[in-house]
Amino acid sequence: MKRVFSGIKPTGHLTLGNYLGAMRRWSEVDQHGADALFCVVDLHALTVDHDPGRVRRLSRQAATLLLAAGLDPKLCTLFVQSHVDEHARLSYLLECVATDGEMRRMIQYKEKAAAERARGGSVRLSLLTYPVLMAADILAYGTDEVPVGDDQAQHVELTRDLAVRFNQRYGHTFVVPRTTHPQVAARVMNLQEPTSKMGKSDDTGPGIVYLLDEPEVVRKKIMRAVTDSGSDVVHDRRVRPGVSNLLEILAACTDADPGELAGAYATYGALKKDTADAVVELLGPVRRRHQELCADPAYVDQVLREGAGKAREMARPRVDAAYRAIGL
Ligand code: ADP
Repeated sequence: MKRVFSGIKPTGHLTLGNYLGAMRRWSEVDQHGADALFCVVDLHALTVDHDPGRVRRLSRQAATLLLAAGLDPKLCTLFVQSHVDEHARLSYLLECVATDGEMRRMIQYKEKAAAERARGGSVRLSLLTYPVLMAADILAYGTDEVPVGDDQAQHVELTRDLAVRFNQRYGHTFVVPRTTHPQVAARVMNLQEPTSKMGKSDDTGPGIVYLLDEPEVVRKKIMRAVTDSGSDVVHDRRVRPGVSNLLEILAACTDADPGELAGAYATYGALKKDTADAVVELLGPVRRRHQELCADPAYVDQVLREGAGKAREMARPRVDAAYRAIGL
């Protein structure tokens, strides 16, 4: 059976982008057709200015939301990255195969480092090496497939390069993974700035639909979404980013084709209303289940404890083999 691995960073409250770009597929497809591992990658949350208590709370919330979104611990392994030492152990070895130039070329690094500097902050070294840790997350498990939104494509490409390089230099140790993206809504955009990704860490509230937003809040955000000049509804990401984003969200929620949906709308108002209804309906069960799970913290603890135990057992032999192969 193929192995699937993917993760989510506890750097903010999870968004509709996380759900449509990744989580929904994990629960509807991946956990059924594969030996799947899903991880709250809390070490990655330390790459930018962070508050320790908040990271802990958000990790917990992310794990609870993954369960609420339908991940079933009987079908998949759900765990927190820092509970399994193998990730950090392998990351160091991979730093010895990656190059400084390769890291500096990563788009997310360039963007996040520039934003940090613009705020007058300093850039943590871990922000530069973050894609190596992500490669370790993936390679430790002999992963065949990495289902992610398309913002992660470059990082998975780097993971492949590192696996191939390690195997060539030190003998076959790692499976070379491939990536999969959803067909629609692989990149949900911010409702207020539809040329930027809807990212949970941006904290630009009105443009981001959070999974735990109240239905009225979701509606308000979508009804106030920035649309484009002109009034006809067409699906063209470059010329009409705002309307195209709404069409893709609606299409993803209703399993439709965004281009075909465009033909059914004469006004932006009607499109917004239907999109808001569809998102509210999609997220309703997730919010309800999240509330139930919050009332049973012992269950979530148990899932994460057992998940970490299983993950450790899966990762350790390959990470040990990598240590031997590289000369330790
Ligand atoms: P974020 O950018 O919200 O911090 P993460 O790095 O934690 O997201 O990503 C978790 C998963 O959600 C990844 O597979 C990522 O590709 C996906 N994802 C994040 N934002 C979006 C988005 N706006 N549209 C589609 N997928 C997204």
